Amino acid sequence: MPELPEVETTVLSLKSKVLKRTFVRVWGDDNLKQLKGKCIEKIKRRGKYIIFELSEDKALLVHLRMTGHFLLGEWEYKRSEWESKDKIMQEKKNRFLRFIFFLDDGKQLALSDPRKFAKLSLLGKKEIEKHLESLGPELLSIKENDFLRILEKKRGRIKPVLMDQNFLAGLGNIYAAEILFKAKIAPWRDVTFLTEADKKRIYCFMQKIIKKALELKGDSTSDYRLITGERGGYQNEHLVYNRKDLPCFICKDKIKRIEVGGRGTYYCPTCQKL
Ligand SMILES: [Zn+2]
Repeated sequence: MPELPEVETTVLSLKSKVLKRTFVRVWGDDNLKQLKGKCIEKIKRRGKYIIFELSEDKALLVHLRMTGHFLLGEWEYKRSEWESKDKIMQEKKNRFLRFIFFLDDGKQLALSDPRKFAKLSLLGKKEIEKHLESLGPELLSIKENDFLRILEKKRGRIKPVLMDQNFLAGLGNIYAAEILFKAKIAPWRDVTFLTEADKKRIYCFMQKIIKKALELKGDSTSDYRLITGERGGYQNEHLVYNRKDLPCFICKDKIKRIEVGGRGTYYCPTCQKL
């Protein structure tokens, strides 16, 4: 699932390519036909949400969920499917087009979404806040002291806590696993028993890892791609995620995969003993 670095990378690219464009046609969902004639005035991110602020006091709220990603290009409808001449758009992950938004500069903004879980809602601008009000603070803006303070109030295992969007907005399965490995904390540790030093290490590596992932334009282990259809680069940096049975880069012990809070979790049994 796209996490903060993937969603932020998407937002930055969309800002440079489709800002001030007007929707001229929508293919894929009758509920979004009302986008026609509306101009994209602002594009923002909050947690894992993308918000397109539109003319006429409207807004399009997008959550990419499991497999959604935006693509910018040109497609033609041939033999009952959308085809692109661009080779990169012919890659498997870029071919599950669910929506195409035709823009007034002749370009098309598409959403590829193999599992069709992405959610797009056309709302009044004022309704957006209501949808986002339960989200926790942005992880890149929160100060260390505030992070320690909100963590103090939480109960439960550390990994699901970090992934709880109402606690902190933006983290998911991949980066939570990588952060806990660097901080040398077992993903099932109860937050009540974390020391101040443990919590500070989590904060520190969270900042470092997310910034590095942003530099590399996100993680394309799964379906996520840049709006050009290309891959991000963070999948080449994994220390534990998706490395079951491979040797730990620090201690050579085998990386394990277990379930914590119902999610597959990778960790090193030696480096993350506590
Ligand atoms: Zn290790």
